[in-house]
Amino acid sequence: MSKIAFIGLGNMGGPMAVNLAKAGFETVGFDLAAASLEQARAEGVKTAASALEAVAGADVVVTMLPMGKHVLGVWGEIADKAKKGALLIDSSTIDVDSARAAHAIAQKAGLASLDAPVSGGTGGAKGATLTFMCGGTEAAFAAARPVLEKMGKKIVHCGGAGAGQAAKICNNMILGATMIATAEAFVLGEKLGLTHQALFDVASTSSGQSWSLTTYCPVPGPVPTSPANNGYRPGFAAALMLKDLKLAQEAAASAGATIPMGGAAAQLYALFSAAGHAGDDFSGIVNFLRGAKA
Ligand code: NAD
Repeated sequence: MSKIAFIGLGNMGGPMAVNLAKAGFETVGFDLAAASLEQARAEGVKTAASALEAVAGADVVVTMLPMGKHVLGVWGEIADKAKKGALLIDSSTIDVDSARAAHAIAQKAGLASLDAPVSGGTGGAKGATLTFMCGGTEAAFAAARPVLEKMGKKIVHCGGAGAGQAAKICNNMILGATMIATAEAFVLGEKLGLTHQALFDVASTSSGQSWSLTTYCPVPGPVPTSPANNGYRPGFAAALMLKDLKLAQEAAASAGATIPMGGAAAQLYALFSAAGHAGDDFSGIVNFLRGAKA
């Protein structure tokens, strides 16, 4: 059975590493935060005193870190010391340029690599039901699959280096923009005397249909499992939506794409977050659009 090093044992990485250990992989984790290390150890993950110590002898290294600079720092530190033939997988959500730079670090050290960001949130991380969006060679994807399958239920090969990150930010830009459009429609409907249920019944079976409406409806009632029925507790926090929308803007600037709706969504989520709602579910923006005071 392969040995796996797991660097970054936070809200996502912690439960993902636990699932690998539960699946029978020898899993050695490292995190800068003592509390994260302690939590992972309590749930069956071996822990190391440094990233280098965790990586020693590992066949696969997974990183789950906040941003591109952290991933480049860790990959730069470990690449030359990793076992010959090892596979590096980054599951953090980071900018496409940094993802490509990380692949270049691995390639220079003679290692296989995959960018494999996830959707599914902390619930998906705990339940091993994440979706992985992967970028890298066919060979790296094939080698990673048995490991990713223990943490997720849908594993998609999106293309070459950086394609996983590209798919993730494009998807989340659609999500941010459709959520705002859906929320605006409910607020306009209210002013026009339309009930939430009537608008839902029409739009959910018409051309206004989207995941933001039918799975994650931003007003309470029509979809009982949506965060709107739970005080807008996340779910998917507005701060994380803003992070992904900013990544889309960076990618668009770097690639020369024009994304005015994505830009407007980023501005609105920046305002929403700055007004004290960074920790709220992102669908709570409906109240902000309605002009709620707090
Ligand atoms: P988190 O802040 O809970 O965890 C990140 C961990 O990385 C922390 O424990 C931190 O101590 C550790 N860390 C930072 N630098 C390190 C280093 N040099 N060496 C070792 N450990 C280091 O964040 P999270 O919620 O687990 O998110 C991780 C990534 O997954 C982010 O890129 C995020 O955007 C993405 N993501 C999060 C969610 C979510 O719902 N939380 C969903 C999808 C994707």
